Amino acid sequence: MTTTDGHAAKVIAPVLIAGEEVPSDFAPVVNPARTSEIVGQYALGTAHHIDLAVAAAVAAFPQWSALTAGERAEYMLRAADLIEVGLEDRAALLTREQGKVLWESKLDVGGAPMMLRYFAGLAEETDRLTEAAVTTARGNAVLRYVPVGPVGIITPWNTPVYLAFGAIAPALIAGNTVVVKLPEEVPLALSETLRLLADVLPTGVVSAVPGLGEVAGAALALHPDIRHLSFTGSIETGKSVMRGASMNLKTLGMELGGNDPAIVLADTKITEPLLSEFMAGVFSSSGQICFNVKRIYVEQPLYKEFVEAFSEKASRIVVGNGLDPRSTIGPLTTKAGFDRLVALRESAESRGATVTPVGHKLDAGGWDDGYFMLPTIVTSIDARDDLVTGEQFGPVIPILPFSNVEDAIAAANDTEYGLAASVWSSDVDRARDVARRVQAGNVFINVHRVGASPMQVPFGGMKQSGLGRNHGMQAVTNSMEEQAIIDFDDTSHMPGAREWQDFGPDDVIIPSPIQEPNE
Ligand code: NAD
Repeated sequence: MTTTDGHAAKVIAPVLIAGEEVPSDFAPVVNPARTSEIVGQYALGTAHHIDLAVAAAVAAFPQWSALTAGERAEYMLRAADLIEVGLEDRAALLTREQGKVLWESKLDVGGAPMMLRYFAGLAEETDRLTEAAVTTARGNAVLRYVPVGPVGIITPWNTPVYLAFGAIAPALIAGNTVVVKLPEEVPLALSETLRLLADVLPTGVVSAVPGLGEVAGAALALHPDIRHLSFTGSIETGKSVMRGASMNLKTLGMELGGNDPAIVLADTKITEPLLSEFMAGVFSSSGQICFNVKRIYVEQPLYKEFVEAFSEKASRIVVGNGLDPRSTIGPLTTKAGFDRLVALRESAESRGATVTPVGHKLDAGGWDDGYFMLPTIVTSIDARDDLVTGEQFGPVIPILPFSNVEDAIAAANDTEYGLAASVWSSDVDRARDVARRVQAGNVFINVHRVGASPMQVPFGGMKQSGLGRNHGMQAVTNSMEEQAIIDFDDTSHMPGAREWQDFGPDDVIIPSPIQEPNE
């Protein structure tokens, strides 16, 4: 439902179950570039709404899972075509609720048709998995991959549409029905997209429940009829979700936070294209991407030149409303994230770090109306500072020198994070050697940003940055169970066959069951 207040369209993200909007309380969605503007309202979904949505997913499961993947792909392709219409409007809506610049919002909302088409394209492979013969020395068996059952999906606010559909599309092609818990901070563009998907799919195959994490999210994680949970978010929430999911042993896919290191070797040639790659790696979405570069280690001979060139390039960044094409980056999305980053920056400075904001304010007059922050370069910082050891999730980047590549690898690995990393060098072989020693799920060479992780290559974190991998067929089988049907013609060669045929009173002298004691 879309209403207007005479100025700007206000969008509602309702609880949507089996194609119907379900009554609920609502809370406002604020524009982070102009915090006085309410962009829309989102439903405060409750545990009761989750129960209803899961019941719809359970009811729809038998019919949806009985289709071939090819038949499910036809629905998904129809939905992709429908979602493609109006992408520009949904991108503008996403910028108004999330803050990122318009071209980034287009990529985000465009992730929905892209994911639906990509995973629909895996239908043949999925169908082949559903019944595979296995020949063994003892006879034949059949190995089947079957959909696990209703899947719960919980996603964060930073890339809401792309990430949600990156979980929805593989679950659907696998034959699962889904319940999506939308992120409370940025629910609107995703809600609009899910409504279009629900319009095309059979009733109950997809339901959407916006709401607070600790209420609707926790209820979904706990629900006994949800058989697999795909969670993307912070490590702390991931642990809480895992505790809930353990109550009924549902399987889990977890894409969690990162504190990605970039190691720059001394032989790296500092060129404009390389600096552009670094800007994208560090400042995309104002630093609010799970695998943004979050700390940079530069080999000592190159350190001064690198910091100067990096600072000069970053000083050309324009920070402003994401709807204005002159903005390079938009505001931070949440007040909590903004306040946290200000505190981290101040704490580092109070302990002797050099904190240098660079770049331009597009609208200095309206600066304090939004959660705007200039790109900030931090040097002379202690390696154990919270800004180095944690995930800052914003445009504040520590750059540290190293004199020995062993020290850089040790520093990169001295963390419980292990999402992604990068090594930068003119000598790709040397960079690969270093990359092999870095503990991260994806290690990039001379690049480190959105777009560098193709769908054919597994994506996910080591250590506490995640469980499992996404992309490709692995994303599909994550929400499937393997079932073996074993049907041997001849069991006579199996271990114990002779012993279980030839036993009994004729062959065995049975001792008397009761030995009377000698009197
Ligand atoms: P978050 O963990 O606070 O929230 C993520 C989702 O979990 C939201 O929908 C939230 O409502 C829900 N949630 C909160 N508490 C919950 C609970 N107790 N039970 C169930 N659900 C709950 O994360 P965020 O601040 O929204 O997102 C930023 C984090 O996500 C960063 O750490 C970032 O690195 C990470 N992230 C990881 C990836 C990846 O692919 N590895 C991608 C994007 C973001």
